[in-house]
Amino acid sequence: MSDRRLIALGTSSQVPTRERNHNGYFVRWDDAGLLFDPGEGTQRQMTHFGVAAADITAIFLTHLHGDHCLGLPGVIQRLSLDGVTHPVDLYYPASGAEYVQRLRRASIFTETATIREHPIATPGVIRETARFRIEAHPLDHTVESWGYRLVEPDALTLLPDKLAALGLRGPAVGWLKRQGFFDLPDGRRILASEVGHPKRGGSFAFVMDSRPCAGALRLAEQVDTLLCEATFLESEAAEAERYGHMTARQAARLAREAGARRLALTHFSRRYQQAQPFVEEASAIHPNVIALTDGATVSLRAARPEQGRGGGLT
Ligand SMILES: [Zn+2]
Repeated sequence: MSDRRLIALGTSSQVPTRERNHNGYFVRWDDAGLLFDPGEGTQRQMTHFGVAAADITAIFLTHLHGDHCLGLPGVIQRLSLDGVTHPVDLYYPASGAEYVQRLRRASIFTETATIREHPIATPGVIRETARFRIEAHPLDHTVESWGYRLVEPDALTLLPDKLAALGLRGPAVGWLKRQGFFDLPDGRRILASEVGHPKRGGSFAFVMDSRPCAGALRLAEQVDTLLCEATFLESEAAEAERYGHMTARQAARLAREAGARRLALTHFSRRYQQAQPFVEEASAIHPNVIALTDGATVSLRAARPEQGRGGGLT
């Protein structure tokens, strides 16, 4: 059984509050563990919410403001302290390299873990495995900021009864999967689509610290889950514009325009005590909205539109 979920490690922008830690998001995607924007205190939040350093296979930074990266030194050092043996890939905006080098060497420790750095300077695919690919696209913040998009390829589920009816088994099924067809001894060509049904791949987008922009739209296009910043409510739209952020309404418009099936809001300004107004504002525009709290776990399995408002929490 595959394990696909988002764990919110922290949901506050700029400064942590009593209820909300600095940003931090962990995505379990089968055997991959993707850590996004580790703000201050991420290491302890991982302990609170059941994420081990050894679970991390890649780290992604949208930009180098403190609430998105001050947790990096602790996490990097913990990888070595825990003796993590697999390499961990670190993706970040190339223009932030100087800050990343400082964060990586913020204090004295014995480095044994292998960190592979991937500075990003051009949009497109930055990571590709047999199971998924990750793209990066530029956002529109007060400093250079990049968002990320994970896409699993579509697949075909072969139906055993149809295979059996045609006498297809063993190596023939392998051929069918690999080449998309199989030629029977009598000359008939069986297409994979005749003996299976298509399974849409899952998808997830991470849009943090940005005004609404073309890059955000591209990242969010048709995804199952869009994790999006909503630092402000629409009543503070002027501030959102000035400081390079989104309101809940803007995030919902982005999700609707992009055809994202589920919208998870986060990165709330400390001025707001309650998240409910964010959900209400966004829900007027998009039918499936949740506001994250620290420790919230969201299933990243393909969302069905009929799940309705608030679906997705597990
Ligand atoms: Zn931020």
